[in-house]
Amino acid sequence: KLFNEVQELKGNIRVHCRIRPFLPGEDQKSTIIQYVGDDNELILTNPTKQGKEGKKLFKFNKILGPATSQDEVFRDIQPLIRSVLDGYNVCIFAYGQTGSGKTYTMTGPDNATEKYWGVNYRALNDLFHISHSRGDTIKYEVSVQMIEIYNEQIRDLIGNSGSEKSLGIFNASQPNGLAVPDATMHPVNSSSDIIELMRTGIENRSVGATTLNERSSRSHSIVTIHVQGVDLKTGATLRGTLHLVDLAGSERVDRSAATGDRLKEAQHINKSLSALGDVIFSLSQKNVHVPYRNSKLTQVLQNSLGGHAKTLMFVQVNPDVSSYAETLSTLKFAERVT
Ligand code: ADP
Ligand code: MG
Repeated sequence: KLFNEVQELKGNIRVHCRIRPFLPGEDQKSTIIQYVGDDNELILTNPTKQGKEGKKLFKFNKILGPATSQDEVFRDIQPLIRSVLDGYNVCIFAYGQTGSGKTYTMTGPDNATEKYWGVNYRALNDLFHISHSRGDTIKYEVSVQMIEIYNEQIRDLIGNSGSEKSLGIFNASQPNGLAVPDATMHPVNSSSDIIELMRTGIENRSVGATTLNERSSRSHSIVTIHVQGVDLKTGATLRGTLHLVDLAGSERVDRSAATGDRLKEAQHINKSLSALGDVIFSLSQKNVHVPYRNSKLTQVLQNSLGGHAKTLMFVQVNPDVSSYAETLSTLKFAERVT
C-alpha cells in the first residue's frame, strides 16, 4: 500500500512552495504574492512595474500558504517519508533566503511543543513508531547522524567529541551505505531519544557563532535517518536513508562589501547551492552525467539523489515587498528544477 502511495507522487522530484506569514512589524498591505487558479500557482508582482509586465506566474507541485500548519506540511510528505521503510532513499531540502522559514519548516520554532514540531521531529517520530508497529514481521533499526557543512568542511553535530574536526566523505557505494562514516551514529529507541538528539544537534550548530542564526544561516545542516530492516521470516534485509536538509541562506551577498571570512563563506554557499541546483536540474532532464562532484553537499547526498531516490524541495519565500528581489531569485531557482 505504501509503495502505491509513493508511486502516485509523480516523478522523482517534487517542489512545495511555502509562503511564511507576515511577522509582527512587517507591513501586511505590501504583499507581492497572489494565489491564482488552483492551489499550485502563484503570481509574483514586481513593485516597480505596473500592469501585466510586472507579474510573473509560477507553478509548483503544491503551494503551502501562510496559514498552513506544521501538521499539514508534514501530512503531504508522509508517504514519501514512510517509503524509507520500504528501502527507498529520500532527500528533503528547505531552500530560501535567511528569514524565510527554512528552519521553521524543518525543525520548528525554538523550543517548539509537539504541535509546532517541524519535519525532522515528525519524520523521526513517524519512522520510529511505524517500524515498531511492524515488529512482528520486520525487525527495524532506526538510527541518526547529524552533520553540518560549513565552508566545505563537514562537522559532526551530535558526536561527544564536539570538535571542529572536518570529516571525510566516502564516495563509493559501500555495504553500509554511509556517506560520512565518521559522523557518529545514534540509535533511536524511544521518542525521548529523538528529542534529546535533536536538542544536542541544535545546540552544537551554534558553536563558534555569536548567535545561532548567524552560523546556521551560513551552513547546511543535514539530519540523516538510517533505517535497516530484517524480514523475520525470510531473513531478507533492506536499507533506506532519509536526508533532511536545512540549507544555508540563498541570499546574494554584496560582493563589493564582503571581505575576508564573509566573502569566503558567501563563495562557498554560492558554489554549493549552484551545485545542488545543477544536480537536481540534470536529474530532472534525465541527463546521463550528473555533476555530483562539484560540492561537499552534493557528494554527501549522492546516493540519495537520482536513481530510484526521491527528492522533495521546500521552497521558502517571504510575503513582503522588501524581499522582492530574493523571492524572485528563489522562485527562479525552483522553476528550473520543476
Ligand atoms: P530561516 O531558517 O529561513 O532563516 P526561520 O525558520 O528562522 O527562517 O524563520 C524566520 C522567522 O519567521 C522565525 O521567527 C520563525 O519563527 C518565523 N516563521 C517562519 N515560518 C513561519 C510560519 N510558517 N509560521 C509562523 N512563523 C514562522
Ligand atoms: Mg534557519
